[in-house]
Amino acid sequence: MRAVVVGAGMAGLLAARTLSDRYAPVTVLDRDSLPTGEVPRRGVPQGAQPHVLLVSGLFELAAVFPGIEDELTAAGALRFDAGTGLCVFRYGRRWPREPTGLDLISASRPQLEAVVRRRVAALPAARAAIDLQRGNAEPALEDLRPALDYEAAGEFAPQYLRGLAYLKLKRGAEAAAEFQKIIDHRGQYAASPLYPLAHLGAARAAVLSGDTDTARRRYEDFLKMWKDADAGLPALQEARKEYASLK
Ligand SMILES: Cc1cc2nc3c(=O)[nH]c(=O)nc-3n(C[C@H](O)[C@H](O)[C@H](O)COP(=O)(O)OP(=O)(O)OC[C@H]3O[C@@H](n4cnc5c(N)ncnc54)[C@H](O)[C@@H]3O)c2cc1C
Repeated sequence: MRAVVVGAGMAGLLAARTLSDRYAPVTVLDRDSLPTGEVPRRGVPQGAQPHVLLVSGLFELAAVFPGIEDELTAAGALRFDAGTGLCVFRYGRRWPREPTGLDLISASRPQLEAVVRRRVAALPAARAAIDLQRGNAEPALEDLRPALDYEAAGEFAPQYLRGLAYLKLKRGAEAAAEFQKIIDHRGQYAASPLYPLAHLGAARAAVLSGDTDTARRRYEDFLKMWKDADAGLPALQEARKEYASLK
């Protein structure tokens, strides 16, 4: 059954996360065009003000998005002890600075929202990854259908997983089209590890389609990008073997 959430602020995004346990697809509507990056927007005018994520808010967020604290700090947010990291003036005096053992996270509101939005956008991808791992390519494609409208915010996960599902189904041209979306839009997430892996996927798609020249080029692109990778990585070993078998 479908669920619709109106408003893609913090409340709407967290409602979508909770609903996704019971409903599919969950559609989130907003009157703003949502940015892919961490920039203020009209619908959240307080977004330009400094924000601090209080302790209980952080606990609640981490319960539904495990590891989000690390993702926030990796994105530039600051973590500090509530007692020593803040300077509080109240009732005409400065409060003593004592460690509390409770951490706050200071992030801009657009930054916090962008990280949570990415997590919500990746939810269909999580289901699809589980299906693929179980060898169920058709259901994985179905899982990813709701992601089609907003995959620019999904850090390449929907396109990549769809590519893998098509490879499993031996549908080379469709797999190639998905990997090509990543190759053509590197700027959407320049540091993504899925960018080099998309070249490997595209090579395999070309093999399925019998296009050896393209396959060779794509394997070479991938091996060049991973030239300094650990030699024992399974993807690297497989790519070398597959490339050698083309010659
Ligand atoms: C100046 C200021 C500073 C703050 N500082 C902090 C802080 O440091 N720490 C903290 O935890 N909280 C802080 N807050 C509070 C926090 O920003 C709000 O509690 C929080 O944003 C509420 O989230 P929300 O999703 O309910 O609403 P909002 O963030 O207001 O989101 C509402 C969403 O609904 C959309 N929308 C509105 N109308 C429609 C419509 N008709 N159709 C479709 N979409 C629509 C909007 O575009 C927006 O995306 C601060 C608030 C202000 C004003």
